Amino acid sequence: MADVLIIGAGPVGLFMAALLLQAGVDVQTVEQRSAPEPHSRAIGIHPPALAALARAGVGEALVGEGVRIRRGVALAGGKRLAEMSFAGVSDCFPFILSHPQGRTEALLERRVNGLKAGAVHRAVRLTGLSDDGGQVTVDAVGPCGAVRYAAPLVIAADGVRSSVRALQGIGVRGKDYPDSYVMGDFADGTGFGADAALFLAGDGIVESFPLPGQLRRWVVRLGARDAAGLTADGGDCAAWFTQCVRGRTGFEIDPGTNSMLSSFGVRTRLASRMVAGRVIMIGDAAHEVSPIGGQGMNLGWLDAEALAPIVTAALGGEDVAGSLRIFERTRLRAAAKAARQAEINMALGRPLADRRLALRNRGIAGVAAVPFVNSLIARRFTMH
Ligand SMILES: Cc1cc2nc3c(=O)[nH]c(=O)nc-3n(C[C@H](O)[C@H](O)[C@H](O)COP(=O)(O)OP(=O)(O)OC[C@H]3O[C@@H](n4cnc5c(N)ncnc54)[C@H](O)[C@@H]3O)c2cc1C
Repeated sequence: MADVLIIGAGPVGLFMAALLLQAGVDVQTVEQRSAPEPHSRAIGIHPPALAALARAGVGEALVGEGVRIRRGVALAGGKRLAEMSFAGVSDCFPFILSHPQGRTEALLERRVNGLKAGAVHRAVRLTGLSDDGGQVTVDAVGPCGAVRYAAPLVIAADGVRSSVRALQGIGVRGKDYPDSYVMGDFADGTGFGADAALFLAGDGIVESFPLPGQLRRWVVRLGARDAAGLTADGGDCAAWFTQCVRGRTGFEIDPGTNSMLSSFGVRTRLASRMVAGRVIMIGDAAHEVSPIGGQGMNLGWLDAEALAPIVTAALGGEDVAGSLRIFERTRLRAAAKAARQAEINMALGRPLADRRLALRNRGIAGVAAVPFVNSLIARRFTMH
């Protein structure tokens, strides 16, 4: 029996496993997927998370592979409205790292396996859980049928549809937003290099971020007309998407270089509790925030970093009830703050007609021109 059973080998579960194994805690992780997730989904890694990842022994590999975004530029009508530098946000990591989630998970899993071979049991899906106050028993279905695990402590990092959260009867409060987006990865011919670019267009914002391998991620805020265009285009979504980007930004992208295209809506979900007896929830299982702002995965890693020393102390026989209460309060507060930041980001990117658009864009340029406010916003964007 391992000291800790982790449910879910996404970025947060794997990071939690690495931290605990490094601290000498015996960990087992179960993951329903038979193979790692290859998709690029989350790409932005912020300085506080980079520092935590470095302490878990994966920082160097990540930074070596990723693109360091040191600056963001805001544009409208072909003109630069504002710039924001991340130079002052951290001594060690004065940038946001762009690195595809699939590769991030692969590096984390390599680290976990390096610390304990066979620590991740794949193709194993949790189906039931009971906590008798002394240990937690987990029922699962694996490649050879039903399987049972037991551990003094279970950490659930099983994502937004967390089965553990449902089985524990933990409620969530949430909000659904009217915003929807399409994102796609394409070859980069923009000349922006390692800069991020925000196009403040009247039809809705377009965000653009560098990716490793001379690729670029484009994220388009859909308007009512776009949603219809996306489905009525005879299936050639990449061609529709590149036309949409050209119309709003003036940049040509080659639809033939598309390596990922996906749409997403936005909602916030905050669990009422992260700790229930001997079961603790972290990452998206505890809090789902809008991808606009790119903080969800980072928040989960910072949950894990805050939790690791408490788990080690608990296994050493210390009374950690007070520490767990502080953990739960501060991490749910951090998630609520990230959700509010994402709300502001989304509001600033909504479609606007001429006069209101000009006003908003002038406002953004004016605010960003004040150095103190500019650096304050840079710190907020990078989770400081
Ligand atoms: C379009 C998009 C872009 C994003 N961009 C960013 C970004 O740039 N920066 C950022 O910080 N965040 C971003 N996010 C959010 C980020 O992807 C999530 O916050 C992150 O994946 C959460 O990690 P997690 O490990 O908590 O959950 P998940 O990644 O969902 O992993 C949960 C794991 O648990 C497994 N699992 C689930 N149920 C079971 C079960 N019953 N038994 C066994 N295993 C189970 C799943 O298979 C999965 O592997 C983005 C999200 C989206 C949708």
